Amino acid sequence: MELPCSKSELAMNSKSSLPNHYEKNKGMSELSDLYQETILEHNKNPRNFREIEDATRSADGNNPLCGDALRVYVDLEGDTVKDVAFKGSGCAISKASASMMTQVVKGKSKDEAEMIFDEFHKMVTGGLDVETEENHLGKLKIFAGVLEFPARVKCASLSWHTLHAALHGEEIVSTE
Ligand code: ZN
Repeated sequence: MELPCSKSELAMNSKSSLPNHYEKNKGMSELSDLYQETILEHNKNPRNFREIEDATRSADGNNPLCGDALRVYVDLEGDTVKDVAFKGSGCAISKASASMMTQVVKGKSKDEAEMIFDEFHKMVTGGLDVETEENHLGKLKIFAGVLEFPARVKCASLSWHTLHAALHGEEIVSTE
């Protein structure tokens, strides 16, 4: 006999922007609280959520799997990220990650921004253990939790890939 399709589960998946299984993950419950609080706060009140007119660089990032679409603006002065901002729409994780990305890279050199991009990418794909290995991620460490949710890795890293593309003079990036 075939089981009926669980309508409540489907509704939950389509409505919720946060991983549903998070509270079930007991070992990471503390990180989970901080993660959820931070994501929700940045989603509600994203930092540097604006266009930069006359930005020296910009790039579009798309994550078709989730429907996240962001444009990242970078204003470079020499090798320094003088200003960075983003616009677009997406799930709470992609928006919060973009918001925190702009806070972290503003005022950094291009090389520093690329180093943090590299560490962030390694962290969410399992190549960097933020608890035991040296890194410069600071508060971005809360995103280590997405490692367990492969679909969310793309949401969390979209703004970083888009920043990376902008810094390299590329205009479009897709996670597919
Ligand atoms: Zn997303």
